[in-house]
Amino acid sequence: MVKMKTALVLGAGGFIGSHMVKRLRSEGYWVRGVDLKHPEFSRHQANEFVLGDLRDKSFVNRIVEYKGELGNFFNQVPYKMVEGFDEVYQFAADMGGAGFIFTGENDADIMHNSASININLLDALVKNNSQGRKMPKVFYSSSACAYPSEIQEDVNNPGLREEDAYPANPDSDYGWEKLFSERLYHAYARNHDFDVRIARYHNIYGPEGTWDGGREKAPAAMCRKVALVDSGEGEIECWGDGEQTRSFLFIDDCIEATRRLMESKCSDVINIGSEEMVTINQLISYAAQAADKKISVNHIDGPQGVRGRNSQNDMIRDVLKWDYTVSLKEGIRRTYEWIEEQIYELEEIQDNQSTHLKTLEELDNDVYVGVFEE
Ligand code: NAD
Repeated sequence: MVKMKTALVLGAGGFIGSHMVKRLRSEGYWVRGVDLKHPEFSRHQANEFVLGDLRDKSFVNRIVEYKGELGNFFNQVPYKMVEGFDEVYQFAADMGGAGFIFTGENDADIMHNSASININLLDALVKNNSQGRKMPKVFYSSSACAYPSEIQEDVNNPGLREEDAYPANPDSDYGWEKLFSERLYHAYARNHDFDVRIARYHNIYGPEGTWDGGREKAPAAMCRKVALVDSGEGEIECWGDGEQTRSFLFIDDCIEATRRLMESKCSDVINIGSEEMVTINQLISYAAQAADKKISVNHIDGPQGVRGRNSQNDMIRDVLKWDYTVSLKEGIRRTYEWIEEQIYELEEIQDNQSTHLKTLEELDNDVYVGVFEE
């Protein structure tokens, strides 16, 4: 009998992690998902989903132990039955869009929380392996934010190549932590002899990504703002002049590239992104087209990050034979439809609640009427 492959997905309640869990299950993996929370927008698809805090070392020591298809995290199983996972995907991080990362207010949490998670994971894997259990192949999700700020000052960015990361000077502490953790994973892999795969993701977006609440990124934020314009015409706000440039990668392309990277022999850090660079104003116009609305933009002060950023994909095309397939226009159309649906559902719940409350009020009145009549 062929043994099922096993995977541990950290950050499985988040955007990319929950999509990766679905993908791995569709490929026949046995999957344990771990996060502080369940996925917000659909039921998780993991064989087992464990809620817990990955900053807690003793929790992480236990989470890396695979106890067989029929065992589970909470079972006590004989020592000999405990194994290591085949693969680990590390997506957990203190994370958000420009409003979270670039204000400076969350820097200590971002650095402490994400670095603790990565150190805990690597220590736990080495410890588990020292007890004679398999060392998994490990994926780590780094970011385009690791690149130096001085090569991102021009809106016409020719594309960030992997080797551009040094000499280092990321524009945020989020980026510095990513760079530190890239090195951490490589150092552990070298000294403890196991395989790591590291991608620098460039702005991943799509359905089931955070779209509200302050941690959402530009594509979701713009789609939400456009969707909330009541009539066929209106105005939305945008931080800065909207001429800052970025490229955005649709989630399905991101998952496909990540799986290919895991299957490959490439141990170098590699870009996973799109080369379709647009201004934020263009991004807004795609959202407006998806909505079929006429949108004007009020440019206001706000955190913007670097001036121009684009991915350069020569290495991934060469090594993984991968290229992005979903155009930004099409990806934004799919994302817009999903966000519009979320807003309708929320409005419906609110309407139902207020109708329900009214009924309760009416019931209440009936009771009081009865009481007074006595
Ligand atoms: P996300 O915020 O949706 O997912 C991260 C998940 O980590 C969340 O569900 C969160 O609850 C979980 N988490 C945070 N702290 C935890 C803790 N202490 N214990 C357990 N779980 C914890 O983010 P995402 O967009 O899915 O990103 C996944 C990874 O990819 C992150 O490491 C992020 O830095 C990286 N990345 C993402 C993008 C992007 O555009 N989405 C770009 C570059 C890099």
